[in-house]
Amino acid sequence: MKILTIVGARPQFVKAAMVSDAIAKWNKDNIGAEVEEIMVHTGQHYDDNMSGVFFRQLGIPAPKYNLGVSGGSQIDNLSRMMTGVESTIMDEQPDVVLIYGDTNSSLAGALTAAKLGFKVIHVEAGDRADNKNNPEEMNRIMIDHISNLLLCTTETARRNLAGEGITDNVFVVGNLMGEAFFRYASKPWKDRILLSLEQGNIEVPEKYYYMTCHRQENTRNDNALKAMMMAMESLEYPTVFPVHPRNKDRVLRLINEFSFQNIWAVEPVGYFESIHLIKGAKQVVTDSGGVLTETFFAGVPYVYVMDMPKIPKRTPFDVSRLAKPLKEDILAKLNQPFDASVGPAICERNIGTGRRILEKIEEWYLLFS
Ligand code: UDP
Repeated sequence: MKILTIVGARPQFVKAAMVSDAIAKWNKDNIGAEVEEIMVHTGQHYDDNMSGVFFRQLGIPAPKYNLGVSGGSQIDNLSRMMTGVESTIMDEQPDVVLIYGDTNSSLAGALTAAKLGFKVIHVEAGDRADNKNNPEEMNRIMIDHISNLLLCTTETARRNLAGEGITDNVFVVGNLMGEAFFRYASKPWKDRILLSLEQGNIEVPEKYYYMTCHRQENTRNDNALKAMMMAMESLEYPTVFPVHPRNKDRVLRLINEFSFQNIWAVEPVGYFESIHLIKGAKQVVTDSGGVLTETFFAGVPYVYVMDMPKIPKRTPFDVSRLAKPLKEDILAKLNQPFDASVGPAICERNIGTGRRILEKIEEWYLLFS
């Protein structure tokens, strides 16, 4: 079976790494029919610290194609990605096209494959934030409605799909971010930021905060970011803040304007650095779905600066989310009680997700091939 995998943004590299690794083991141990994976990188994230470092750290095979599409308006971006994906699909004639998550790369891949009459597999199907204005939510809904095999992280996601009338070929397989976190967060890792915290006589762990912010809702003007930075500035420990390229100028300007001293704004860090910084943090403030998931799995308290009503109630997620943040709201949320035992227990259940994904793909593929 020939799988064409489309990736483009950093959370997708982490997920694809788990499946590529499962494919290598699958072929080596002759578990099922031989799987050939062709990887296409759209170029959405292209800086070494947003892309290359993930391939090196996670041992992902180099993509066969790099479409080099970045920048420009959303529409220009999507159309260039679709044109590039079209020619790779036509050249490769894969049996299935594998899509992860909810980025523009995911949408371009799914839409192109579906239009060309190829089968689309969506990993992380059914995730919903109940907010159709959110750009990622639009992508999720469109992708799910044109996919042929829908692989969900949770029962909640499966129920979301059923609520939209999608019930065929839907399976809960687990969370690849959880599998990756479980595999790598327990391995010792000293990165330059943790080292420099120690050299600055800041004791780790739990003597710093970790923050990320890149969602369009929070970056279209200064408000959210300013509130987050002001809250962090007032805390007793410093905040390590890897800045997404989208925000760099704004963050530097705010640091200058308000003379923030307690915020360590750094370039984006690699995956191993990120999960170890999360694990060692006192608390995390973020608007990233991936960072939120990892923080939850680490059992570290957090504030999620997004409105996401559909987060399952049994997780501590719902006590901590925050839309349209104000400094005082963030500080109040940081003081809320948090059950740190739930996440690590759930994290463990995701071991083997990559393998389960392959099993489901093979089972389903045999039905139509
Ligand atoms: N991440 C990273 N370096 C950073 C910030 C985040 O490696 O400087 C990792 C993070 O640990 C998670 C993933 O990138 O694995 C999340 O990506 P992002 O926040 O860009 O996307 P989202 O999850 O919001 O779609």
